[in-house]
Amino acid sequence: MKCKKMVDIKDGNEVVTKNNTKMMKGKCPGCGTTVCRILGRA
Ligand SMILES: [Zn+2]
Repeated sequence: MKCKKMVDIKDGNEVVTKNNTKMMKGKCPGCGTTVCRILGRA
């Protein structure tokens, strides 16, 4: 990932993984790379 430090997410969708962890999944507004931010347990 190019943007580990950059946590701004564009068009983010909240998803729940198989591990019951909430994540915000979206795109980096800078370069368009798919980025995820872990929000915590669902
Ligand atoms: Zn980026």
